[in-house]
Amino acid sequence: MTNEATYDETAEVEVIRGEPRVDPPDAPVLADGLGCHSGSEMEKAARLSGNSEMLDQFAKDYPKGPHDQPQSMCPAFGSLRVGLRMKRVATVLSGSACCVYGLTFVSHFYGARRSVGYVPFNSETLVTGKLYEDIRESVHEMADPERFDAIVVTNLCVPTASGVPLRLLPKEINGVRIVGIDVPGFGIPTHAEAKDVLAGAMLNYAREEIKAGPVRAPAGGKSDRPTVALLGEMFPADPMMIGAMLAPMGLAAGPVVPCREWRELYAALDCGVVAAIHPFYTAAIREFEAAGRPIVGSAPVGHDG
Ligand code: SF4
Repeated sequence: MTNEATYDETAEVEVIRGEPRVDPPDAPVLADGLGCHSGSEMEKAARLSGNSEMLDQFAKDYPKGPHDQPQSMCPAFGSLRVGLRMKRVATVLSGSACCVYGLTFVSHFYGARRSVGYVPFNSETLVTGKLYEDIRESVHEMADPERFDAIVVTNLCVPTASGVPLRLLPKEINGVRIVGIDVPGFGIPTHAEAKDVLAGAMLNYAREEIKAGPVRAPAGGKSDRPTVALLGEMFPADPMMIGAMLAPMGLAAGPVVPCREWRELYAALDCGVVAAIHPFYTAAIREFEAAGRPIVGSAPVGHDG
């Protein structure tokens, strides 16, 4: 009998490139005393580094609260959790070590049970563009089609402010899809909107795949009735209850977006109509509209309800 604790080492932050660092002494923005509360300065930097169009779109999609700081804990938790809950999807974060520490801590607290990839940086790798090269090399190393359908790479605040260009990553490596998103605390108010950023990016990718040719069929085959795609996370039993209410109308419940498996994205886009159950999914709605799907909004809640 021993008093020594045993630890599960498998669900820790995985440092993919470079040396593990707990608190980079020269992390460029945070070392200067700037962080979640420094949205306006980081936003200025992001605009100077070519991210104006993206930030303008965020401002249109996601109204901010009374100030420019995140309105919840690190918003990127929303998109991180969406990726971690999908089968055969790997997640990689690019950001300051302290941000990554908090995000992975909360992910594992919520039972992520899998590794979160991390590409560390310092001032030099950030300003010379080496960080982008490290990220690119990492996704090449990780892109194993036996293990993954997709790899999601997320820029947190500092790499977004510095304009690390994830859009230049290859779209696909060895058949593994690469999805790069920016989820800065300035621009994305809460983790609810961050879920939409990733859901929208994945739907966009899947829509292009559908346009390019045949895609994988849904796991249980295609429904013989028109389906209602359910937009917004819900409890596991909810789609069954909703399905029972839809059946007398000759409709079936479609996939829930954010999805749990890549091919559900195709089935969601193939729906008859989208029920926007949560109100935050602006980018996802844009993709459904581009696919020609009508959207039914949810009833107002809270004060308006
Ligand atoms: S990434 Fe999240 S924790 Fe880090 S500075 Fe931005 S909002 Fe704060």
